[in-house]
Amino acid sequence: MNILCGCGELARCQTSWTENNPARRFLGCPNFMDPTTNCNIFQWADAPLPNHWYQARIYELHLHMRNAQEQLIQVNNQNSQILF
Ligand SMILES: [Zn+2]
Repeated sequence: MNILCGCGELARCQTSWTENNPARRFLGCPNFMDPTTNCNIFQWADAPLPNHWYQARIYELHLHMRNAQEQLIQVNNQNSQILF
């Protein structure tokens, strides 16, 4: 689904990874956080998680996954510097 925002960009489906709305999809303009634009498209696609416990667990899992990805990148960089 393509919707043209008031700023001229196409809105797209994105996923929020904030602490309050982890893994929650929304339709939004790429510039909706920019106060200098005339963006008028932001709409949640998913219902909120049922309670704070779920929000906290999903957010923690997201942080663990992100840390694991960063560690993997570091290990890969270290391995690429090893000369055989
Ligand atoms: Zn916009």
